[in-house]
Amino acid sequence: MSHDAEPSPRRAARAEAERLATAALAQIPAPSPTRRTLRETAATPSSSPGRSSRLATALSMSGLAPVTRRRRLAALAGVALVAVVCASAIATASSGARHDTAASATVADNSVVAPVSGPPAVPDEGLPVPQQAAVAASATPCDDPAFTSALASGDDAAAISAAGGGNAFRAAVASGVAPCVSLSDPHREWVVVNKQRPYDPVDYRPDDLVMPDGVRALEQSAVRAPAATALSAMVRAASDAGAGEIGYLSAFRSYTTQQSTYAGRVAVGGVEAADRESARAGYSEHQSGLAVDIVPCDGSCATLDDVAASSQGAWVRDHAWEYGFITRYVEGRESVSGYEPEAWHLRYIGPELARAYHEGAYTTLEEFFGLPAAPTY
Ligand SMILES: [Zn+2]
Repeated sequence: MSHDAEPSPRRAARAEAERLATAALAQIPAPSPTRRTLRETAATPSSSPGRSSRLATALSMSGLAPVTRRRRLAALAGVALVAVVCASAIATASSGARHDTAASATVADNSVVAPVSGPPAVPDEGLPVPQQAAVAASATPCDDPAFTSALASGDDAAAISAAGGGNAFRAAVASGVAPCVSLSDPHREWVVVNKQRPYDPVDYRPDDLVMPDGVRALEQSAVRAPAATALSAMVRAASDAGAGEIGYLSAFRSYTTQQSTYAGRVAVGGVEAADRESARAGYSEHQSGLAVDIVPCDGSCATLDDVAASSQGAWVRDHAWEYGFITRYVEGRESVSGYEPEAWHLRYIGPELARAYHEGAYTTLEEFFGLPAAPTY
């Protein structure tokens, strides 16, 4: 708190007059002599103050002869009077013309010099506030009927399209402006399952499991219908490209099957080792029906560990995204994904999201959707 008393009205008025006079002097262009500066110079023949700084001149007046000083004070008073009159005129004009005030504010915001007179650039009903509201509303797809109806119908591809494509959908979800999208819904192609995100219900089982056409299934394991169609197309394309045959071992695994799978790993290497390469029941991507463990085949099929160095593995790394698949667990990302690299484990997220994943050079689904890392349970 200040200890100074409130300034009296007279002191305030004097201070304001001094401020206006100083400001008016400072406004005078220094290099080119105006009529006012020529008159001032003529009034002070015994001294020749430099014209480079009017403010400096005013401040140094205390050292001038009494007559000169009086003339200069009179000149200053005149400047102050002009400034006060101008200020009053501006204030009157502002209070009497709201359109002009609004127009001036708009001009100032845009740093554009515009004539004071003339009609306002924007009509009353079109000023910036409603425009900004419209921009904010379009930022969330959850307010868009086309998006919410596609979502409600269960058509993931249509919903992503309505959101503006894979990257727009991803950005909306990752930034938190799309609360109507659940990354926990196991029916969705964008579901994220990891050591921090079990299924709900924990024994979820998809209802559209099918066997993919034209793909060698070594364990007769089924895949969700959209992923099965994409897998068939991808395997055909790899073969057509000369990369060799791609078969697969395990795709959908039920909650109870996963219990056995995980228990088997624990029996061999203990819990710590098992958790780095196998999910506990209720936490496996295989339970979604959207994950496939591929193997390279050439006559007979090799093992999961042979994928990374195979021609099929190389082709998949470059092209799987074109069919909606990502390599879910890659080298060096165990601290985020929770698993050692698995070149064989492909996860279907749909072609639009896989394209965004590929083009954004993402390496984990967690980072893709802005989720926390999930290294442990
Ligand atoms: Zn797998």
